[in-house]
Amino acid sequence: MTTALVVGGGPNGLAAAVALADAGVEVTVLEAADQVGGGTRSGEAIVPGLLHDHCSAIHPMAVGSPFLAGLGLDRYGLTWRLPEIDCVHPLDDGSAGVLYRSVQQTAAGLGRDESRWRLVFDRPVRRYDALSEDIMGPLLRVPHHPLTLARFGLPTVLPGSAFARLLRTEQARALFGGVAAHAFRPLHHPLTSAIGLGILTAGHRHGWAVAEGGSQAIANALVRLLAELGGKVETGIRVESAADLPPADITMFDLAPDAIARILGDRLPSRVRHAFHRFRRGPGAFKVDFAVAGGVPWTNPHARRAGTVHLAGTFRELAATERAIHAGRMPERPFVLVGQQYLADPQRSAGDIHPVWSYAHVPNGYSGDATEAIIAQIERFAPGFRERIVGQAVRSTDDIAVHNPNYVGGDIMTGAKDIRQLVFGPRTTLSPYSLGVRGMYICSAATPPGPGAHGMCGANAARLAVAELTRR
Ligand SMILES: Cc1cc2nc3c(=O)[nH]c(=O)nc-3n(C[C@H](O)[C@H](O)[C@H](O)COP(=O)(O)OP(=O)(O)OC[C@H]3O[C@@H](n4cnc5c(N)ncnc54)[C@H](O)[C@@H]3O)c2cc1C
Repeated sequence: MTTALVVGGGPNGLAAAVALADAGVEVTVLEAADQVGGGTRSGEAIVPGLLHDHCSAIHPMAVGSPFLAGLGLDRYGLTWRLPEIDCVHPLDDGSAGVLYRSVQQTAAGLGRDESRWRLVFDRPVRRYDALSEDIMGPLLRVPHHPLTLARFGLPTVLPGSAFARLLRTEQARALFGGVAAHAFRPLHHPLTSAIGLGILTAGHRHGWAVAEGGSQAIANALVRLLAELGGKVETGIRVESAADLPPADITMFDLAPDAIARILGDRLPSRVRHAFHRFRRGPGAFKVDFAVAGGVPWTNPHARRAGTVHLAGTFRELAATERAIHAGRMPERPFVLVGQQYLADPQRSAGDIHPVWSYAHVPNGYSGDATEAIIAQIERFAPGFRERIVGQAVRSTDDIAVHNPNYVGGDIMTGAKDIRQLVFGPRTTLSPYSLGVRGMYICSAATPPGPGAHGMCGANAARLAVAELTRR
C-alpha cells in the first residue's frame, strides 16, 4: 500500500492527510506539539471553563473552502456559528463601519458609499462559489471561470490605499482598510487590496463564522475523519532532520520553507534550498486573551454585537501603523483586532465572564510588551474596559513562535505576503507545492492560496502528490 507522512498537524497538514487517505494512501501525521491543530488550537488559559482560541478565530474562508465544505465535517463535530454582525470598525467620533453578512445591509449603512459597496461586491458574492475554485489555488494557472475571475481580479491589483480612495466616507474606508490590513502589508503596496477583497467577498457569501466549541473543532473534525479513513496522528514528535523521517512514498511538509530547508538540507535541489533560505518573513503578532466581566463596554452599540472589532481609527491612521511595523518600528497605537467569538458561541463563557481574543500588528520579532498598547486601543473605543479585566494571558512574538515554529518572529501569516510570495508562493515557480524531490511536497500556508484555516494549501498539494504518484 502507498504510504504518506505528513509533518505538521495544522489545518493544511490535516487537510492533506485526509485527501491522501481518501485516495487510498496509508497516512501518518507527525505533530511536534502535544495538541494537534497548529493555528486552530483552542483551550482554557485564564479562568476555568473559559474557552480561548489560541490562534485562528474567524473563518469566512474556511466555510467557503471548496475542500472543507465537501467533507461533511458536521458529521465529525464541526458546527459553524455566525455572530449577528460580522465586523465593526469604530472611529473616534462614535460612528463605525459596520459589516454584515448581507451586502445590501452593509451598503445601506455606508451612506454615500452605498452604491459603490454594492458595485464592488454584489456580483462577486453571487458568483463566489465559482470564483473560489480559482482564488483558492495557485493564481498562475488557467482559470476555471476566466470572466468572473477577471471582473473580480481587476480591483485586487490596486494598492489598498488606491482602492480606499474610491470610497467617500471615513467609515467605509476604515472598514475596507481594516480587512485589507489582514495582509500585514503597507497599504500603499500593489495587490494589498487582494486579501481584503477576498475576505470581504467570502464573508458576504458565508459570514465571519466561528467554530462551535472553539477553532480546535476544525482540527478535531479532520482528525476524526482521518481516523475513519485509516490514517493516524502522532503528537509530541518534532522532526528536526531528514534522519527523523520514516520512509514513505509521499512526504508532505506542513511547515514554513525555511524549516524545510533546515530539515532536508542537501536533499533539496540547490535552487529550491536557496529560494527557501531567502524566504521573507512578514511582521509579527502580539496576542493578549482577556477574561472580561460583562464583556467589552464599546461606545458604538454595533460593536457590542460584532464577532470582530478592528481598532485603528481612520484609514489614514491604519495605513501609517502598517507602514511603521513593516519598517520595524512599533507604533504607539498599533492596529488591534478583537474577537468576541462568545457572542456567536455562548458556551465559551463562564457565567458573566467572557473570553475576549485580541492581537496587535507589531514588527517581526518585536521584543517589547504590547499589552498596554492593546488595552489602550480598546479603552479608546470602550472606556471602562480596563476595570472589567478579570485576567489576561499574553503571547509575545517569541511565545507565538515557540507555540508554533511556523510563526517565526510572530509572523502568523507563514511568510510575507509581498507580490512575489503572494502570487507564486515560497519560490518563483508554477509548481508551488513541489520541493523538486520525488514524492516530497510543501503544503503549509506559505503556499497558495495562503494563510487561513481553510485547508486549501493541503488539499491542493495532496492532489498534486496523488497525480504524480499515478504517473510514476
Ligand atoms: C494569533 C493568530 C490569529 C489568527 N487568526 C486567524 C483567523 O481568525 N482566521 C483564519 O482563518 N486564520 C487565522 N490565523 C492563521 C491560521 O491559523 C494559519 O494560517 C493556519 O493555521 C495555517 O495552517 P497550516 O496548516 O499551514 O500551519 P499551522 O497551523 O501553522 O500548523 C503547522 C503545524 O506544524 C507543526 N510543526 C511545526 N514544526 C514542526 C516540526 N519540525 N515537526 C513536526 N511538527 C511541526 C506545528 O506545531 C503546527 O501544529 C491566525 C493565526 C494566529 C497565530
